[in-house]
Parts: sequence; C-alpha cells; structure tokens
Amino acid sequence: MGRFDGRVVVITGAARGIGYGTASRFAEEGASVAILDLDESAASEAAGRLPLVDGAKAIGVACNVSDSASVDAAVGRVVDELGGLHVLVNNAGITRDNLLFKMTEEDWDLVMAVHLKGAFLMSKAAQKVFTEQKYGKIVNTSSVSALGNRGQANYAAAKMGIQAFTRTLAIELGPYGVNVNAVAPGFIVTEMTDATAVRLKMEPEQLRQMNAEANPVRRVGEPADIAAAVTFLASDEAGYVTGQTLYVDGGSTL
Ligand code: NAP
Repeated sequence: MGRFDGRVVVITGAARGIGYGTASRFAEEGASVAILDLDESAASEAAGRLPLVDGAKAIGVACNVSDSASVDAAVGRVVDELGGLHVLVNNAGITRDNLLFKMTEEDWDLVMAVHLKGAFLMSKAAQKVFTEQKYGKIVNTSSVSALGNRGQANYAAAKMGIQAFTRTLAIELGPYGVNVNAVAPGFIVTEMTDATAVRLKMEPEQLRQMNAEANPVRRVGEPADIAAAVTFLASDEAGYVTGQTLYVDGGSTL
C-alpha cells in the first residue's frame, strides 16, 4: 500500500531534473502522475518512463505555467484524463542571472512570470477542485537563493515571494482541507546547475565539488533528496504542517 494510492498528482516543469525525480517518487508510491512541461513530446516521453504501480496512469501535457489559457487547459485535461486532482507541485523554473546593472527588464519579467505568476495560475486552477472536494496539497518550490544570492536579484525575489505566497495560501485554503507548503532546495545536480557552471566558466563537476565542500553534509543534493521532502509534505502524515518552507540544502544555510 503506497502513500499515494488512488491520488492524482500534477507536477510542473517535470520533464527533467527535480520535477522528474519527484514525479518518479510519487509514481513509486502509487500515484497517477501528470507531467506538465513546455514541450509536449518531452513531457510525454518522461511520463512514459515513470515507475508506475499497477492501476496508476501517467500523462505528459504541454503547459506554459505563465499563460492562464495554457494552465486552465492543462489542469482540465489532467482532471478529465486521470479522473481527479489531489496534489499540485509547482516546480517549473528558470534562471536569468545577472548583476543588477546588467539585468534586463525582460529577464526580470520572465523570471517573475515563470516562478511567481506560474505558481499563482496553477494554484488558482487547482484550488477549484481542491476546495470543492475539501482535500488538496500544494507544494511550492523556493530556493536557498531566497535568502539573497549575488547575480540573482530576479530569482531571489521570486523565490522569497514563493514563501510569502505559500504562507498566504495556507491561511486562505486551510479551512477547505488544503495544505500549502514549500521546499527550498540547496545545490541539486540538474541541467539548471550544470548550465550555471557553464555560465561561470567552470566544469559542472568543479561547481558540484565547491558546493559539496561548502555545506555540513559535504555532498551535493540529488533530485531524490527533494522528492523525499516534497512527498512528505504532500502526504497525509504532514496534515498538521502548513505554510512552512522546508530547506533541503545539506545545511548550507546554517
Ligand atoms: P531544470 O532541470 O532546468 O528543469 C526545469 C523544467 O521547467 C524544465 O523542464 C523546463 O522546460 C521547465 N520550464 C521552464 N519554464 C517553464 C514554463 N514556463 N512552463 C512549464 N515548464 C517550464 O531545473 P531544476 O534544477 O530541476 O529546478 C526545478 C525547480 O527547483 C525550479 O523551480 C528551480 O528554481 C528550483 N531549484 C533548483 C535548484 C537546483 O540546484 N537545481 C536549487 C533551488 C531551487 P524547458 O527545458 O523546456 O525549459
């Protein structure tokens, strides 16, 4: 018996990286899973690789989380094709790093649109289902960068905004049986951090080693580390936890 037997989970930006790792963990624990991502073929291919248990289903759906029509269509399709909705994980994300004096207005807007507007639109669409059935779990994705990070004024502001958004939705939706929490990952090995290494003119392995040495547990994180925290927060074991941001960072912020 899995913790998510009979549950339907939707995860944004889940064709790869942390989102895919989290989708896999939900699938292993019995959930039917919808992988939303910009590219439908990448989303469908990822859904096809999930380790589903008997009776569970997976679909890949094209969705740009910063576009309300795209979000409403995607959430509608998930409910129709998977027969309901119980958990939303807002994971889609991008970086457009630069020092303030070089950061363009476009890169500011883009980061806000994907992280903050994306979480807003997806949560708004999902809460219709959640409040009607008096059950739902939302897990948002913040970051250690929320505490401030050179070259990430846009991303850091969005990620701290996610924490405020999480606390506010927890207050509003708690009376309707909906828990809202966030995870704040530290350095996790994904294409996002490999791209950061390239931008910093380093080998990915070099950046990983630097980050491993800079935290108390002396290793970098893997998508499975975030998946473990997200599935806990989305489970009924965490029914008395809401409005919280759990830092999953090997102690790097201590
Ligand atoms: P990733 O490997 O770059 O994956 C992000 C996924 O989101 C990609 O598949 C991307 O699609 C998708 N995406 C981008 N914009 C989207 C949009 N508008 N609508 C739907 N999907 C979109 O990143 P990751 O490292 O797994 O990060 C996942 C989340 O964790 C992000 O919110 C990130 O900010 C956060 N985080 C990551 C780390 C880390 O160390 N990796 C640390 C802290 C927080 P495309 O490939 O088509 O662009």
